[in-house]
Amino acid sequence: MKAILAREFGGPEVLKLEEVPDPVAGKGQVRVSIRAVGVNPYDTYMRAGGYAIKPDLPYTPGADAAGVVNQVGDDVTGWKTGDRVYISGTTKGKAHGAYAAMAVCEALQVHRLPARVSFAQGAGLFVPYVTAWRALFGRANARAGDTLLVHGASGAVGIAATQFAVAAGLTVIGTAGTDEGLAVVTKQGAQHAFNHRSAGYLEQITSATGGRGPDVILEMLANVNLDHDLTVVALGGRIVVIGNRGRVEIDARKIMSKDCAVYGLALWAITPDEVRRAHQAIIAGLESGALNPVVGKEMPLADAAKAHIAVMEPGAHGKIVLLP
Ligand code: NAP
Repeated sequence: MKAILAREFGGPEVLKLEEVPDPVAGKGQVRVSIRAVGVNPYDTYMRAGGYAIKPDLPYTPGADAAGVVNQVGDDVTGWKTGDRVYISGTTKGKAHGAYAAMAVCEALQVHRLPARVSFAQGAGLFVPYVTAWRALFGRANARAGDTLLVHGASGAVGIAATQFAVAAGLTVIGTAGTDEGLAVVTKQGAQHAFNHRSAGYLEQITSATGGRGPDVILEMLANVNLDHDLTVVALGGRIVVIGNRGRVEIDARKIMSKDCAVYGLALWAITPDEVRRAHQAIIAGLESGALNPVVGKEMPLADAAKAHIAVMEPGAHGKIVLLP
C-alpha cells in the first residue's frame, strides 16, 4: 500500500510517499481503509523532531482519519467489514501511522461515523473535537449561561469548541485573523467574531460582555495572548491553555486579582473515562447535527509536505485533510 514515510526528522520535505507492505489486523485489532486523514499542527512538531513524543525512524505520521473497516482481527466484537468509522490513533501508538492507504487500530480506537458525516469531516474528529470537549467540560467546567472566548476560533480546535459550546448554551465570542476565518466563526453560531490582528479587539471583547469579561477562555496561542487573557477574563474565570509556541511574560498579579484559574491541557493525559464520554458526546452531536466539522482544504496524500506547510500558515478556515 501507499504510505507517507519520514526517514529522518526535519522540514516538510522529509515526508515522502512510498510503497510499504499492507498491515494486518492482529488479535483485538481492526484494519481501516483510510479515505481521509486529518493534518494536525503537532504532526509538524513531531516531524521536526523537537516534540515530546519522538517516534522511532522511519515512521508514518497521523493519528486522525476516517474510512471503512476492511479487516477484523480475532476476538473483536461489534465491527464488521464495510463499517464507516473514524479513528483516534493507531496500534503504532507513538509512531501513529494514519497518513496511509490503510491503518491498523486497536478496537477501542475505532468509532462509528454517522452516515450524515463525510469521510473528510470524519478525519478531523479525534484531536480537534476531543481536545475541545475536554477543554470545555473536563477542564473549564463550562456551563450553559457562561460566556466563552475562543481565542483562535477559525482553526480545527476552535471550530469544534464553538460548536460544542453553542449546543451547550454558552454565549460564544470567537476570534480569527482573516475575513474568511471570521465568516467561518460566525457560521458556527458564535454570537460575536473579532479579528485578533486588529488593534482594539480586546476592548471589543470586553464590551461584548458588558464589561464583565468572558467566564471561560480557550487559548490557542498562549505565548502571544496569555497576559491579555488575564486582563479580559471575568472575575472567577477559567483560562485553558491549549496551544503555545514560545515563551510569554505575564503579570501573575492578574491571576490573583481576577481570582481566576489557568489550566493546561495535554490531550494525551486524558483518562479512559473521559475518552469514552468525549466520543459519546461527539457521536451524539454528529447525529443531532449540532456538530459539523468544517473542511478547509483537501489535498492528495502525496502532498503531505505541502499540507505541513499550509497547517502552520495564518488564515485558518477549517481542517486540512489528505486524501489517499
Ligand atoms: P489550526 O487549525 O492551525 O488553528 C490555529 C488557530 O489559531 C486559528 O484559528 C488561528 O487563526 C489562530 N491564531 C493565529 N494567531 C492567533 C493569535 N494571535 N491569537 C489567537 N489565535 C490565533 O490549529 P488547531 O488544530 O486548531 O490547534 C490549535 C493549537 O492548539 C495548535 O497550536 C495545536 O498545536 C494546539 N493543540 C494542542 C493540543 C493539546 O493537547 N494541548 C491538542 C490539539 C491542538 P488565524 O489563522 O485566522 O489567524
